[in-house]
Amino acid sequence: MIKNNVKNILSELPRDVELEVATKKRDISQILEVIAAGVRIVGENYVQEAQSKFDVLGRKVKWHLIGHLQKNKAKTAVKIFDMIETLDSVELAAALDKECKKINKVMPVLIEVNSACESQKAGVLPENVKDLVAEILGFKNLNFMGLMTMGPSVDNPEDIRSFFKVTKDIFDRIKQTNADCKYLSMGMSDTYKVAYQEGANIVRVGTAIFGSR
Ligand SMILES: *Cc1c(COP(=O)(O)O)cnc(C)c1O
Repeated sequence: MIKNNVKNILSELPRDVELEVATKKRDISQILEVIAAGVRIVGENYVQEAQSKFDVLGRKVKWHLIGHLQKNKAKTAVKIFDMIETLDSVELAAALDKECKKINKVMPVLIEVNSACESQKAGVLPENVKDLVAEILGFKNLNFMGLMTMGPSVDNPEDIRSFFKVTKDIFDRIKQTNADCKYLSMGMSDTYKVAYQEGANIVRVGTAIFGSR
């Protein structure tokens, strides 16, 4: 079943859109199944949970962090992850840069955009993204590569479209002056179709592959 779900989604996605599978609370055997079905990237939300899976699976798959990162977890995070999608402050950037230096790694990062300007949500407000990009460019051990957004939770997938548009607009503007700005990570199980229609080239899907958590 997992294999078929992956195959169906992969065949639906435009060729330049990467399927990232959100694997929080899924076990090793489920992750191995999606890898066998052709998935190359998994997204994990928690550093500790990712660590225990990484200890078993290693570099069989690319590991992206898609949950909020606390500075005190930066040291462990930089060892595991191939990309941090949730960078949202200069302080966190400084902590990641410092830990990356120690292990001689350059970490690809996406800035998480709080595209609906929700007060309780993680991420950078749209009007502050440009300034954070400029700051990140000053850290030698971070490589700014694009944007990620969650958007608000909606009942109708159409209701998230405008927030994906907002994020794509910012992405396009940054891209004009920054060739490394390549990745736009948007959309989950209910909204990945709207997301790739609006220009996402990474979609993050969990439930539509594994069933409900
Ligand atoms: C869990 C999660 C997803 C996937 O959500 P589903 O509804 O299970 O597809 C995508 N992005 C983030 C940041 C998540 O935490």
